[in-house]
Amino acid sequence: MSRNTQWLLKSRPQGEVGRGNFEICQADKPAPGPNQVLVRNIYLLVPPSMRLWMDEKESYFPPQPLNQVMMGITLGVVEASNHPALRPGTYVNGMGGWQQWYVAQVDQLLPVAPHPEIPLAAYRTVLDVQGLTAYCGLTDVCRPKAGETLVVTAAAGSVGSLVCQIGRQLGLRVIGVAGGRDKCEWLRAECGIEGVIDYKSEDVGARLDALCPKGVDLLFENVGGPVMDLVLDRINTSSRIALCGMISTYNGGAGQSSRSLMQLVNKSARMEGFLVLNYMDRYAEVVQKLQAWILEGRLKYRIDILDGLEQTLEAMSRAFHGHNRGIQLVRISPEGP
Ligand code: NAP
Repeated sequence: MSRNTQWLLKSRPQGEVGRGNFEICQADKPAPGPNQVLVRNIYLLVPPSMRLWMDEKESYFPPQPLNQVMMGITLGVVEASNHPALRPGTYVNGMGGWQQWYVAQVDQLLPVAPHPEIPLAAYRTVLDVQGLTAYCGLTDVCRPKAGETLVVTAAAGSVGSLVCQIGRQLGLRVIGVAGGRDKCEWLRAECGIEGVIDYKSEDVGARLDALCPKGVDLLFENVGGPVMDLVLDRINTSSRIALCGMISTYNGGAGQSSRSLMQLVNKSARMEGFLVLNYMDRYAEVVQKLQAWILEGRLKYRIDILDGLEQTLEAMSRAFHGHNRGIQLVRISPEGP
């Protein structure tokens, strides 16, 4: 019988996650019960917020229980089915965890029907969590008006690069803040974002002043910390800030200065945190729109795939050190039925 490689969380990380926080075990390959299906995981999404699930303190998910298979957002293929609604060979999105196979109820899975011109991996990335986050966060939380100035942090990242491009489609002046020359160049050349700031080598305050002479109307915040303070120093009256995430704090880094938060008072600004989970009722509509933009060449994305479940910690580390070049996935098994 095949063995199912599983990663169990053994201890809660302090700071960055490490191999010592996990135990790898070999369980029996599970068998589906009545009305259940067996799914083989193909792709595991590695979002930075997965680090928060490992903490004892509740995030937007209950804390990952110790000694159990680590939770994970996956795309897989049905290998065996005891339910007529999902036939073997169907691709499905689910919460399959850090393991090779899992058993699920049909209502825990979302079937995926990939377009022949779009890679399968896009359906657990740009045409799923990241796309929905970018589109709904920008349109619903920032509520932009054409001509306004939008600043996006982690702008060359998974969510950020989509926000930048959607902002352009909506007629905004978009300024992206990213780390390193090649990321900035990718934003300019591939995504058509002219106003780009390399926070690792440039004076961010001076560049914001140059690129936003009339101030900042909208901020899509992915990082938190000192760059966010510099942007808040430059917001206009009635500006809107979508607080999508604060990756700089996930391993324990400091947050915002209260001085910069006072800017929200000074400028009667609105900062609103949001979760992509709040927008699941718009999933089909948004995915259809973004898929059409991809096919028309109006929305660019990169997917960065590492091979093998054993690469998951390396994949997490890449996001926290800015080494990922696109949306980070781990390939657990080959595509195809
Ligand atoms: P990502 O951009 O693909 O990867 C993270 C990027 O953040 C890195 O490449 C790096 O880019 C930057 N970064 C990492 N640590 C940093 C630090 N200490 N200081 C400054 N920059 C740092 O990740 P993502 O999946 O798109 O996630 C971006 C944000 O969106 C995260 O905060 C995440 O939690 C959030 N998110 C929220 C929701 C929601 O529902 N609210 C959904 C999805 C994602 P540079 O090299 O440019 O620094």
